[in-house]
Amino acid sequence: MEISPRPVLLVAPPVTFEATFPLGLASLATVLRSRGRPVEGLDLRLFPDALGRRLSRSPVPSLVVLETSIRNVRVVRRLLAQVRASGDIRTAVVGTAAALHPDAFLGPGQADFAVTGDPEEGIPALVDLLEGGRGRTPAGVAAADGVLGPTDPAWLPGDRLPVPDREVFPQVHYGSHDIRRGPPRAAVETSRGCPLACSFCPVPARYRGTWRGRDPEAVLDEMARLRRDFGTRRFLFEDEQPLGDPLAFGRLLTLVRRRLPGVELQFPNGLRGDLLDQEWVEEMAAAGTRQVAIGVESVSSEVRSRIGRPLDDGHLDGLLRTMQRHGIRVTGYFLAGLPEAHGRDGLDLARAALDGRFDYVHFSVCWPWRRLVEIPTAGMRRAARWRALAYGLAYGNPRRLIRLREDRDLPWGRWPALARRLATWMRAGSQGGGGW
Ligand code: SF4
Repeated sequence: MEISPRPVLLVAPPVTFEATFPLGLASLATVLRSRGRPVEGLDLRLFPDALGRRLSRSPVPSLVVLETSIRNVRVVRRLLAQVRASGDIRTAVVGTAAALHPDAFLGPGQADFAVTGDPEEGIPALVDLLEGGRGRTPAGVAAADGVLGPTDPAWLPGDRLPVPDREVFPQVHYGSHDIRRGPPRAAVETSRGCPLACSFCPVPARYRGTWRGRDPEAVLDEMARLRRDFGTRRFLFEDEQPLGDPLAFGRLLTLVRRRLPGVELQFPNGLRGDLLDQEWVEEMAAAGTRQVAIGVESVSSEVRSRIGRPLDDGHLDGLLRTMQRHGIRVTGYFLAGLPEAHGRDGLDLARAALDGRFDYVHFSVCWPWRRLVEIPTAGMRRAARWRALAYGLAYGNPRRLIRLREDRDLPWGRWPALARRLATWMRAGSQGGGGW
C-alpha cells in the first residue's frame, strides 16, 4: 500500500474582523508546490474548528506553519500548544510578530522555528532540512533548540516574489463578502515592505526599512488570470505601501486602464495622503479606482506629525474633494489609543466620526509592537470603548446609513447576516476593526 507523504499545513489564525485572502501563506504555498511538496491550507477565520479535525486525520502534517500578527499572539500560542499536544508534528511561525519577536513563540510546547526573513525562502529550506535530518537552520530562521543558521533574514528580490497560489486557500472562499454586494473580488499585492516610519507600524522594522516591488506586468498578468478563472472584476490592493515606487505604480495604473478596462480597483489598506496628489487621484480614477482608504490616524495635524504622518489639513481637504469629484468613495482610518495623542482620544475620535468629508470611517486600537501584548492593557481597553463610541456616532448618522444603503452594503432583507456582522464587530473590541 502506498503511504501518502506528510503535507505541510499552512494555518491562517483568527486576527481581526475580516477574512481577507491570506496572500502571504498563499505565496508560500506557490513555492512549496513548485518544489513538489504536498501542501494544505486552513483558514481558521472561515473554519474556526477545523484545526482539531485536521490534526486527527491521516496523514498528519510534517510541519504546521502558523501566521502571526502583533494582534493575535495569544491565539497563536494557544494553537501552537494544540498542535504540539496532538503528536509528532514540527511547528513554525511566520509573519510580523514572529519576525520581530521570535523568542515569544519558541520553546517547549510552542514553535520549533520562527521565520524572520521571507517565509518563501526560510520555510522550503527548513522542509528540506527536516527531511534530510542534518545541517544548520536556514538563513532567516530562528530555532528553539538553539541550532541557529545565519541570523540575517533572507529576502527575495521584488521580481522573484511569487504569484500567490489560489487553490491551497481556494479563491472561491474569498470571492464575495458576507453582506456586501458587488462583482467577484480578489486581493492582490504588488509589493512588500515600506521605507517610511509611522510610529505605530511594525512593517518597516519587520523588513528593516526595505521596499520591494513586483514587476507591474506580472501583477497585470495575475489580475488577468483572476478575471479569466474566477470572473474577478473588483481588485483589492492589500500592499503595505503600494506607492513605494511611483513610476511602477503609474505603470500599473496605465496597464490596468489599457488591458483590463471596466475592472474596479480598491485600496483598502490606508494610503498615506501625503504621498498622493490630485494628478495621482485622476490617474487612479481613470484606471477604475472606486474605493480608497486614507490613513489619517488623527484629526490633529500636530499628532499626525508626531507619529510620522505629516499630512497637512489643506492637502487632505483638496484630495478629498478631488476623490469626491471622481466618484471615489473614501474611508478615513483613525487610531484610538495613540500614545502621541496624550489622552485626547474621546474628543478627537468624536470629531473624526462626525467629519462629513469621509464617506465612511474606520477606527482601530493602536497595538504596541516594540514589545508584544497578549492581553489588551487597561489603556487599550479604554481606547476600545472610545472606538465603540466613535463607531456609534459615525454609523448612527442617518447620512452614513443612507450611503451604506446606496452602496448596497446595508441589505435590509438579510437580517441574520447583519446580526452576525454586528456581533462580530462588537466582539472585536481592541482586537481589530473593520467598517460596517
Ligand atoms: S506608510 Fe504604512 S506601511 Fe509604511 S510605516 Fe506608515 S503605516 Fe507602516
